[in-house]
Order: sequence, then C-alpha cells, then structure tokens
Amino acid sequence: MRSAVVVGAGVGGLAVAGALARSGWQVTLLERAERVRPEPTAVVLWPNGVRALQALGLGAGLAAIATPLPDGGVRRPDGHWLVQPRAIPADRMPVVVHREDLHDALIAGLGERVELRTGVTVRHVRVEPGERPAVSDGRQTIEVDLVVAADGTDSGIRRQLAPESRVVSSGSAAWRAVIPWYQAPRLPDDQPLAGEILGAGYRFVAASLGERGSSGGSTRGGIYWVATAAGAPRPEPPETQLALLRRWYAGWPAPIGALLDATDPADLIQQEVRELRPLPRAYGFPAGPGGVVLLGDAAHAMPPHLGQGACLAFEDAATLASLLREARLPDAVQAYDRIRRPRAATVVRQTRRMSAVLQARGRLALRARDAALGTINSRLLSSAAASAAQWRPPT
Ligand SMILES: Cc1cc2nc3c(=O)[nH]c(=O)nc-3n(C[C@H](O)[C@H](O)[C@H](O)COP(=O)(O)OP(=O)(O)OC[C@H]3O[C@@H](n4cnc5c(N)ncnc54)[C@H](O)[C@@H]3O)c2cc1C
Repeated sequence: MRSAVVVGAGVGGLAVAGALARSGWQVTLLERAERVRPEPTAVVLWPNGVRALQALGLGAGLAAIATPLPDGGVRRPDGHWLVQPRAIPADRMPVVVHREDLHDALIAGLGERVELRTGVTVRHVRVEPGERPAVSDGRQTIEVDLVVAADGTDSGIRRQLAPESRVVSSGSAAWRAVIPWYQAPRLPDDQPLAGEILGAGYRFVAASLGERGSSGGSTRGGIYWVATAAGAPRPEPPETQLALLRRWYAGWPAPIGALLDATDPADLIQQEVRELRPLPRAYGFPAGPGGVVLLGDAAHAMPPHLGQGACLAFEDAATLASLLREARLPDAVQAYDRIRRPRAATVVRQTRRMSAVLQARGRLALRARDAALGTINSRLLSSAAASAAQWRPPT
C-alpha cells in the first residue's frame, strides 16, 4: 500500500489527507497544535473551490452548509457605486461557509484510514535522489512514498526546499468575525449587506451565513464581516481594536457601524496580511521512488482580497489526488509542479493588482483610483471570476 505523510491539518491538509485515504493510501496527518481547531469565522468559496471540493467527493457535505453569495458590487465609503452589482448565474455564484462547518465536513471526509497525530512539529524533511522521502520532528523519522507539506504560510518544509521564497507583510491587517443571528442587528429589507466597500487603504465586506430563523443553509448562521486596514496589526486588546475599527469606519454606509457594535470582542480575529515573495521556484520535489509537494498557503500564501487562498488549496488537493490516481509517483509529483505553478502565479498576479488598487492612498492617488476603479476593478473582478469559473480538475 502506498503511504503518505501530510504535514499540517489546516483546510488544505485535511482535504488532501482524506482524498488520499479514500483512494487507498495509508495516510499519517501530523499537526503541531494539540487540537485540530478551525477559526470561528467564515470563508468564501468561489466556483473553483466548490468544484475542487466536489472533485474530492465532498460536494454533498458542502451543499448542506453553504449559503450562496450574490454579487453586491463595490461602493465608496460615501455610498457611490464604483462597480454596480451584477446578476450571476447560479453555477458561477460563490458561496460562504462557516469555517467550523467546513472543518466538520473535512474531518468527516478523513474516514477511518487517516492516522491523525497532534502535538507533532515537523522540523526536517529528507529529499535525496536515492532515498524515500521522510519527515522528522527531531525524535522520530517517518519514511513514506509521498510527503505533502500543507504547513501553512510559515512552512518549515518550504523554507528548507525553496529558501528563495520569503514571507513578507502585505502592509495591512485584517479583522474578521461572525455575529450569530441572535446577536445580529435587524436590517431594513432594502439595505444591501453583501458587497464590498473601498476607502483609502480600508476595505469592508459583509455576507449572510444562512438566513435568520431558518434551519436551512449554514448550521452556524449569522453575519460574517471582514475589514482590512493598511498598517500593522494592533497590539491592544480586542475591545480596543473594535473601538478603533468603529473610529476608522465611522461615516461608512450602514450597516457597518451596527455590525461593529454587535460584534462580541471575544469573536474578533485579527491577523497580519502576509504573502510569499517570490513564489517558490518549484512545488514538486522528486525523491527516490516518490517525492515531496507543497500545497495550500505553504505553496502560495497571498492576501485575501480575492478570497482565493483556501480555494487554491482545494484545487491543489483535487489536482494531486487526480494525478496520483493516473500516474506513477515521481511522474505525478512533476506533473503537479507543472500544473499548479502557473495556476497559482495567475491568481497571485490578480491578487497583487487588487492589492495595488486597495493600497492607493493620498488625494491624487485616490482620485485616480476612483476614476479608474469602475473599469479596472470590474475588469479585474471579471477576469478573477472568469478564471475561478473556468477551473476544472485534471481528468
Ligand atoms: C482575513 C482572511 C480572509 C480570508 N478569506 C478567504 C476566503 O474568503 N476564501 C478563501 O478561499 N481563502 C480565504 N483566506 C485564505 C485562507 O484562509 C487560507 O488560504 C487557508 O486557510 C490556507 O489553508 P492551509 O491548510 O494551506 O494552511 P493553514 O490553515 O495555515 O494550516 C496549516 C496547518 O499546519 C500546521 N503546521 C504548521 N507548521 C507545522 C509543523 N512544522 N508541523 C506540523 N504542523 C504544522 C498549523 O498548525 C496549521 O494547522 C483568507 C485569509 C485571511 C487571512
């Protein structure tokens, strides 16, 4: 039986570990945390992410927890429309999912055949021409046919195999929360909730997770919001961070103020926005009869402006699983590298263009941005949406 070690039990690691086990691999999943736990926030899945989960055999579970996200357009803080909302066909509409629901679906997908070991920090990977690949935590070495490095943005395996790729700050911080329905403000029917609002270095997006009072859709319903602001993460406690957010977003369109007021500080998640520069020169490293691959944020951490990080991790997992069904192992590792690098580079390029638009500061830059945004942003969003809609897992 072919054997694999997956390092990291984030969404990417969980997805690929389950897929390999379901194809008959013996899988060990190593996670450095003592417990495998998702953040209590949500994630937007574009059609490519949904299609990848379907290819992984997780489509039915997803349908039960996902809420469709209609296009809400893009507005300025004064309410002026930069990009008008458009009607999107149902098969191209992104969905929003509570991360805890997604996590439950991924855990259910592991089945009985994945050995999950928590509290294990991988410190070294062995990639030698004549030897099977292996990982070690400094005490124990596990030798397998395939190592999947799904150990996130700060991946130690990537640092070892692709040291040219560095983690850098993208110059902003992000705050997210889900306000459960029982705490969420009641909004007038004509008030748009979904959609994006862009100011000078600031961005706010909100979406509904399921419907108030409905048992359908997400099992953990509420209103999800994410705010991004230029600058470093704040060292203050969450109560003060929320007070700062209220100040920064004062005067922005309703219901932003009401959403910030209704957010429990204990539910606030703050994160520095970081990315890899440059991207690793390779995603696949043949070793002996097998090899090592980089997957998810370990391979292509990027700012969240297009909501593609987790979607690409699922694409990586679906692609790898499909290649391993069709090809011999070292060939599959090389094919994975050939297929995934240009794909990730395209999405990272689109995300960086979006970052440049978002980071326009200063009066002149803003005026130029506002003038250009209607066209640039709608073109950019359309090309990102088109590339998300067009992606198919390899057959
Ligand atoms: C504000 C924000 C909003 C976002 N919104 C979206 C969105 O709407 N849509 C979308 O698609 N994406 C979104 N993303 C991106 C998405 O969250 C990530 O791309 C995704 O979670 C990456 O998953 P991963 O499994 O690759 O990495 P991670 O989730 O980081 O998992 C890595 C795991 O590896 C473990 N680990 C690390 N080192 C070791 C080691 N040495 N040994 C063992 N275990 C180790 C870690 O503990 C962790 O559990 C967003 C990101 C941010 C910051």
